[in-house]
Amino acid sequence: DAEGGVRSKSRPAEAAAAAACNALVQYSYVLPTTTLAPQPPLPGYPLREGFGASRVRAESVKYHTLKDKEYKPEDLPVWNFDGSSTGQAPGDNSDVYLKPCAVFPDPFRGSPNILVLAECWNADGTPNKFNYRHECAKLMEAHKDLEPWFGLEQEYTLLDMSDRPYGWPTNGFPAPQGPYYCGVGTGKVVCRDIVEAHYKACLYSGIKISGTNAEVMPGQWEFQVGPCDGIEMGDHLWMARFLLHRVSEEFGAKVSVHPKPIPGDWNGAGLHSNFSTKPMRVEGGMEKIEAAIKKLEGRHKEHIAVYGEDNAQRLTGRHETGSIDQFSYGVANRGASIRIPRECAAQGYGYFEDRRPASNADPYRITGIMMETCFGAVSE
Ligand code: ADP
Ligand code: MN
Ligand code: MN
Ligand code: MN
Ligand code: MN
Repeated sequence: DAEGGVRSKSRPAEAAAAAACNALVQYSYVLPTTTLAPQPPLPGYPLREGFGASRVRAESVKYHTLKDKEYKPEDLPVWNFDGSSTGQAPGDNSDVYLKPCAVFPDPFRGSPNILVLAECWNADGTPNKFNYRHECAKLMEAHKDLEPWFGLEQEYTLLDMSDRPYGWPTNGFPAPQGPYYCGVGTGKVVCRDIVEAHYKACLYSGIKISGTNAEVMPGQWEFQVGPCDGIEMGDHLWMARFLLHRVSEEFGAKVSVHPKPIPGDWNGAGLHSNFSTKPMRVEGGMEKIEAAIKKLEGRHKEHIAVYGEDNAQRLTGRHETGSIDQFSYGVANRGASIRIPRECAAQGYGYFEDRRPASNADPYRITGIMMETCFGAVSE
């Protein structure tokens, strides 16, 4: 369907161009876990040192054209990019290889164009240092009989061109938190057009997006992806992040996944990670959930180490978080590391929520270490 997707049938020039492109597929390789070099702070930046300059994980994309057909990852060519420009390889050995691993319909160009998620590999045949998907996939494969499900809640903050949260007064602050969470109406929320466009783009691409809500801090939003099976969690969340950056570009808004964008009495941003296995989801499941939580307690520090950068600014024990130094859990407790939802405790089975991951955490690292801690490392 050359006129499918977001192409408008009422614009003849675009329709003609679409028809001419019918035999060609634009394929867009999306590169997860690119770490960009620190950016210099903006002159006259009104907030605090280091916030605008902090290291960010960003989505990257490269475009290419090939013949129209139905593509699976294994049908697509291995490609490469200049890893020295993204901090992923030295300049004198800069080729990083892109191995396709998941294919999604492209909501911007419409059918038959596709988005390709690709793993990064070095020239010597080893996974790139930022390729966390590879280890994660091995863990998911080793424990696949448990049928692990994940659901991630991605919180983020929309910023204007001066790195101020969107809609905030230029000098000063909005009224204190309270009316903004799940808010409706002018003065309570901003940029709903971005949130709606992102939701539609995710649905078009087949991403298992399951909800969205305005957050406690004005300018902050959340979307949920899941439940997803195993490795699918990282793939779908990463593509949903790419789409969010890409959609926001059209509206002139920046996406921040910093876990504490504004210091003080303003909520931080997390990536709550909900988890269950088949035995946890049936009669007697609470025992399995408790056993998993015991294992998590023993490896608190190891988890915190891979749950995102600058997370100490967020995990203070205030603003609906547990303390970074101390593991805790409880039923319906939003001030704990792990929360067991009330309805799961009541019925005796279900899932639990790890509230520790920061909004900038890598979903492959979160879901990978969850499997490793609860069910064991992969034997070589
Ligand atoms: P909260 O009350 O913490 O804000 P949300 O509704 O935002 O909860 O998110 C709940 C998440 O839990 C969703 O991403 C959903 O997919 C996920 N989820 C629901 N059931 C399960 C389950 N059995 N296993 C894993 N994840 C689940
Ligand atoms: Mn080049
Ligand atoms: Mn939520
Ligand atoms: Mn939330
Ligand atoms: Mn939550």
